[in-house]
Amino acid sequence: MSIQQNLEKIKSSLPEHVTLVAVSKTKPISDLMEAYNAGQRIFGENKIQEMVDKHKQMPKDIVWHMIGHVQRNKVKYMASFVSLIHGVDNLKLLKEINKQAKKQDRIIDCLLQIKIASEESKFGMTSSEASTVLQSEEFSELKNINVVGLMGMSTFIDNKSQIKSEFNYLKQTFNKLVSSHKQLTTLSMGMSGDYQLAIDCGSNMVRVGSSIFGRRNYSI
Ligand SMILES: *Cc1c(COP(=O)(O)O)cnc(C)c1O
Repeated sequence: MSIQQNLEKIKSSLPEHVTLVAVSKTKPISDLMEAYNAGQRIFGENKIQEMVDKHKQMPKDIVWHMIGHVQRNKVKYMASFVSLIHGVDNLKLLKEINKQAKKQDRIIDCLLQIKIASEESKFGMTSSEASTVLQSEEFSELKNINVVGLMGMSTFIDNKSQIKSEFNYLKQTFNKLVSSHKQLTTLSMGMSGDYQLAIDCGSNMVRVGSSIFGRRNYSI
């Protein structure tokens, strides 16, 4: 199936309230343009340099999401155009995003990444760390960022019931935080293998790569 056909199939299966982020990391511009020409406007990348390069070469109405782990010293390269940063997992990083957004006279939307997976390798805060950040004085002084929701990645495992309980945990965390922080509206969870399950568990933003663009080849 072509990229366009994959996209159409996925979009037709998504409820109206769910936003599709097309995860285009490692894929060439020609593939992204195929998705663009099929109407896709939101693209997700996990490396800042790659996103900067693609942003330069592609139409300016694309909405760029940074979905990977963010190194503080690289925030400046994307601050002029990034629309949503999914993987924010500490206050120091929020401060740097705020600083760079201010230089650009922008307000940058962010999601707090919550660690839901059992793997050590996955980044993220605990639910109580996120709560502490949102209630802190320092956070309230950051005028050039908006924390608009939460993001999580499930364990890389073929066990639906474990993935489901991780998604449910994230949704509960989201509900708990929303009660005192009404600005939280986005819950980014679900990828190619599990986005339907994620939506059933309350996701309203899914990050889908290989089901749109095909398998990634990391050797090139
Ligand atoms: C790569 C990636 C995805 C997409 O993964 P697929 O399985 O190809 O859909 C989603 N979220 C994050 C954070 C990723 O790094």
